[in-house]
Amino acid sequence: MKPTVMIVEDEEALSTLLQYNLDKEGYKVVTAADGEEAALLIREVTPDLVLLDWMLPGLSGIELCRRLRGRTETRNLPIIMITARGEEADRIRGLDTGADDYVTKPFSMTELLARIRAVMRRIRPALTEDLVTFGDIVIDRAAHRVRRGDREVHLGPTEYRLLDHLIQHPGRVFSREQLLDAVWGSDVYVEARTVDVHVGRLRKALNEKDERDPIRTVRSAGYSLDEQFRN
Ligand code: CA
Repeated sequence: MKPTVMIVEDEEALSTLLQYNLDKEGYKVVTAADGEEAALLIREVTPDLVLLDWMLPGLSGIELCRRLRGRTETRNLPIIMITARGEEADRIRGLDTGADDYVTKPFSMTELLARIRAVMRRIRPALTEDLVTFGDIVIDRAAHRVRRGDREVHLGPTEYRLLDHLIQHPGRVFSREQLLDAVWGSDVYVEARTVDVHVGRLRKALNEKDERDPIRTVRSAGYSLDEQFRN
């Protein structure tokens, strides 16, 4: 499962260079040339990390970053800001933008890739590991098994993919359409209601007796994994 990185950069040459290197590194890459385009695309493709240039035409990188932090669905989306050298870099560090990390132009590709890996590891260990733990739930990706506490949880392939997807983005709210795209694939026609059916099955398999439900239904928005469950 390839993590998706979105590049938001108006300098075409830099965007192309980043795209080339991230692609080579095994990431799925999506690009946007301005803030407005990025804001729209983020709703569609739900990237795992955003590389965000600070100086963009129209909606600035900093404004976009604030907007993303203000929305439930993107509050935890990892963001690395790209800034120019000098004053701008100092200024951005002094601002509370909500970005997870910053890189200053010109930067080396090796450094950037290391920062990306570090942010991903810190924020979403679930993307990079075989054994993923969330509260008392453990997914063993190598063995394709799920446990809760001491017992094995038997899941169908769809419920497994659903849980694996949610566990990669704790706290993030996914609409039914986004879950359909991520779990069933965008070229398959399935009704949005089908998602409810499979979430229901997943809940039934995961939760026995008085066990807490890790899945949160967000009215008129969709589903997410309850971050408080982790504790
Ligand atoms: Ca720029």
